[in-house]
Amino acid sequence: MYADLHLHSNFSDGTYTPEELAGHAKRCGFKAVALTDHDTMEGCERMAAACQAEEIQFVPASELTTECDGHELHLLGYMLDGQNSKLLEELAKFQEVRRQRIYGMVERLNELRVPLRAEAVFALARCHSPGRPHVARALVQGGWCSSLDEAFDRFLKKGKPAWIPKFKIGAAEAIGLIHQAGGLAVLAHPGLNHVDEIIPELVAAGMDGLECIHSKHSTAMTHRYLELADRYRLLVTGGSDCHGMNKGKPLIGSIKVPYQCVEQLRERALKRAVDGGFLIADTLSDASSIVDPKS
Ligand code: AMP
Ligand code: FE
Ligand code: FE
Ligand code: ZN
Repeated sequence: MYADLHLHSNFSDGTYTPEELAGHAKRCGFKAVALTDHDTMEGCERMAAACQAEEIQFVPASELTTECDGHELHLLGYMLDGQNSKLLEELAKFQEVRRQRIYGMVERLNELRVPLRAEAVFALARCHSPGRPHVARALVQGGWCSSLDEAFDRFLKKGKPAWIPKFKIGAAEAIGLIHQAGGLAVLAHPGLNHVDEIIPELVAAGMDGLECIHSKHSTAMTHRYLELADRYRLLVTGGSDCHGMNKGKPLIGSIKVPYQCVEQLRERALKRAVDGGFLIADTLSDASSIVDPKS
């Protein structure tokens, strides 16, 4: 029994709808999946329904853009309460800044004599959490670049002329935000960030887990992070980080983490709720029954 705990839908920069993702998950034989769209949970309702129809367990989640000591870090929040008002408020802020950033990137492109219009990017993105991949797709669609890679390499990568830094919240603040929404905070793809020295700081801030298994991690990286997770008593998670088709096939199915990871996430969420004095409804076996007495 396996799970994929890192998937993006077209509610952020993935190309599959939640229903298409659930269909792929079914064909891959997953028992559980999480939707981890960037800075939004808007796809979770549809994903939950689609997973239910496919008899797959669904873990509501989001991948938050955060910063620590000048480095961009992605923090996955799992088992989040999608109705939590503080979380929704923060996500709305993220999305407004992402929108403004699209205008900024388009302006830079216009200065470079690429007459792309922001409206074309928004029409293509059709979501509240637009990002560079949508600009890249618009550049390809308009014929200014022949591939997404070219769009990133020429214009959108960090340091390239149309790159604009993204709004981020502090990693410690993000961990607090995730916790107050009933969730667990997991550092996404640590192998891609090269900031292992920050991990103890994140552990001190209450981080719950490490995404040891990821489609872009080498075997050596996976072993290293499994070791670090063990050392700091962190939960182990993993996922494909599927954004749709990748070099001719979808990434979903390329990474299969043991279902145990999901059970451990649930146990930790439940323990946090009990320790934090949150109210637990009748069933202790169902993490979704956690109710925040303050809300
Ligand atoms: P943003 O959140 O707007 O900064 O965009 C980051 C997203 O761009 C990542 O989550 C990836 O999905 C995507 N990305 C980053 N680099 C590349 C690349 N070279 N080619 C295609 N997509 C990329
Ligand atoms: Fe992405
Ligand atoms: Fe990420
Ligand atoms: Zn991701």
